[in-house]
Amino acid sequence: MRVTLGGSATQRRDLRTGRTIWMERGRNRLDVGPFSRSIKCDVAVVGAGISGALIAEMLSEAGLDVVVLDRRGPAVGSTAASTALLQYELDIPLCDMTKRIGKTRATRIWRRSRLAVDALRARTDRLGLDVEAATRPSLYLDGKILDPAGLADEADARRDAGFEVELIGPAETERRYGIKGRHGLMGFGNYSADPRRMAAAYLAVAETRGARVYAPAEVVGIDACENGVTLEIAGRGEVRAASVIFATGYEMLKGIPRKGNFIMSTWVIATRPQPKAIWPDAAMIWEASDPYLYICTTPGGAVICGGEDEEFESAEARDAKIAKKTAILTRKLGALLPSIEPTPAFAWAGSFGNNPLGIPTIGRVPRMPNCYAAMGYGGNGITFSMMAAQILRSTLCGKGDSDGDLFGFNRNF
Ligand SMILES: Cc1cc2nc3c(=O)[nH]c(=O)nc-3n(C[C@H](O)[C@H](O)[C@H](O)COP(=O)(O)OP(=O)(O)OC[C@H]3O[C@@H](n4cnc5c(N)ncnc54)[C@H](O)[C@@H]3O)c2cc1C
Repeated sequence: MRVTLGGSATQRRDLRTGRTIWMERGRNRLDVGPFSRSIKCDVAVVGAGISGALIAEMLSEAGLDVVVLDRRGPAVGSTAASTALLQYELDIPLCDMTKRIGKTRATRIWRRSRLAVDALRARTDRLGLDVEAATRPSLYLDGKILDPAGLADEADARRDAGFEVELIGPAETERRYGIKGRHGLMGFGNYSADPRRMAAAYLAVAETRGARVYAPAEVVGIDACENGVTLEIAGRGEVRAASVIFATGYEMLKGIPRKGNFIMSTWVIATRPQPKAIWPDAAMIWEASDPYLYICTTPGGAVICGGEDEEFESAEARDAKIAKKTAILTRKLGALLPSIEPTPAFAWAGSFGNNPLGIPTIGRVPRMPNCYAAMGYGGNGITFSMMAAQILRSTLCGKGDSDGDLFGFNRNF
């Protein structure tokens, strides 16, 4: 099947604006060159963000000859804007998800999310990658979505599914975190990292196994048939691959089912390091509200605070609100955690892909033989990038993944 696309194979977006906290930090040097002549490979991965990086690393470990293509460069898309709370706890509480899609499916999705975070931590440790990673508990505060009774129901649902949780009342929330008048649900074993550094580190490992990374290299045409896929690279030749994985983030492959995905806008601030002001367990803090405020810290003690999401996709309108949203986030951060200095050293805005269940779409692209997509839409985007790497490895190299049906294009929920 030949897909001729106007201009590019994927949507084009202004993904982010402003100075993110990660941009001025070092990252692995990569061997990246512009695409200059036609080549062949086993798997072409389109997109060199965190999704493409994790996928390329995993497939290269499986012995496949991998080529990574990006029209911008490694880790300069949404990955550079991420706040990188690598949580297993999903945006839709387990008790709500159970009401919407049934207990069996909701529990499987939540458990798989946990496994993905555990696997990402284990793999990053095993590969010895220095990505400013840390394991953190999380504090989920009562809000408009879950009041204190709802939080208790959520605790029961999570316990019932095998998760370790702790419910804390307002006195304990104030004693531990200085947050007044709120109930909290603690979760354990979440993870955080510098997302840009993580993507570069995984790409660097893939390169040591022979993976080739090309940028700029924009995919503008796709000829997919049972024998393999030919990608047309803007003005520069072709890549012939047995399989192609589109890990193009919020710039969705044109012509594929949307699976309820939509683009919204979000804003973030980050402070200068203030390690002495950080609460003892450095828990990630988020609210059972919509939109919610979320807060995490870097190992050096900078505080990152994001939220204030709005459901529009215009980058122009998003950027016009940076000053206003920065002021709101600063005020809310200071009000919630009076012991920290909320003045931002960094402020940025990003587009953000989501869907009503906040789950990813991963798997074979309908009607495009040998083409796969890794669309980690939802608040746990990087957890989903890891899930995509696992599922696609099993799909390409094994007998398929036992949770593949939950995330594929043919799911009916
Ligand atoms: C402000 C913000 C905060 C976030 N916070 C969190 C968080 O706390 N936790 C979490 O888990 N997730 C979070 N996310 C989501 C997470 O950052 C994303 O899910 C993740 O970065 C997406 O990575 P990716 O590799 O799929 O996409 P990207 O990093 O955008 O990479 C995709 C790449 O594909 C390339 N591309 C697109 N089309 C083509 C083409 N035709 N040819 C060649 N290349 C192409 C692009 O140039 C781009 O570099 C956040 C996102 C934002 C914006």
